[in-house]
Amino acid sequence: MLRVIAIDGPAASGKSSTGSLVARELGWAHLDSGALYRAVTLAALDRFEDMPNTIVPTSQILALLDELRVRLVLVGDEFRPEIAGVDVEHAIRDDRVTRHVSTIAALPEVRAWVNAQQRHNAGDQARGVVVDGRDIGTVVFPDAPLKIYLTAMPDERAKRRLSQRGRTVDDAEVRRESAALAARDEADSSRPVAPLKPAPDAVVLDSTTRTLAQQVAQVVQLARRVFPD
Ligand code: C5P
Repeated sequence: MLRVIAIDGPAASGKSSTGSLVARELGWAHLDSGALYRAVTLAALDRFEDMPNTIVPTSQILALLDELRVRLVLVGDEFRPEIAGVDVEHAIRDDRVTRHVSTIAALPEVRAWVNAQQRHNAGDQARGVVVDGRDIGTVVFPDAPLKIYLTAMPDERAKRRLSQRGRTVDDAEVRRESAALAARDEADSSRPVAPLKPAPDAVVLDSTTRTLAQQVAQVVQLARRVFPD
């Protein structure tokens, strides 16, 4: 049986935090596919400085990914993004990357490249891997025996994202962050290739009124039932 748990859902719904803790509890690896899309975006923005204004041929972006060896590397239980041998886990969370990542992620050739990396990385994990993103249950691992679709109300997601960054959580900030998340969700849901949506056989979990610990416990319970050994 394929030892993959797919966790999909909108921005800041807690996919990565949940995925990471579930993986730790199960002794599996955790792969955040958004980190790879972000690393691709960071590499492209740094190389093609005028990119937001001019269209860069996708072939040049793909060549750059090879040249800079953009990839995920397993460190402990976590796959971490790397560019030219340097860990970029922190740099990929930058606002500039967040603003442009959905545009890059809508390119079919980039998606095919990212999917190949993910399948390769996950294929090396005999113990199992928790993979989170937008299209894991629908496209990347449609045969995953356990698929979770994680949601939460937009304002709650915005508050969590702001406090994660150590920012003040006043009403105006929450409204701004909520609007930015909604714009990214709209871009991710309306693209023609691999749009964000729940797989038909996904378990939908709404985390609005639940703690991270409760959510993790629920996914672990489901996992132990689906993967008994
Ligand atoms: O998960 P995170 O919010 O870091 O993902 C950043 C962006 O990467 C998303 O907004 C989306 O455009 C893209 N993404 C995707 N498919 C995935 C994971 C992320 O298109 N499986």
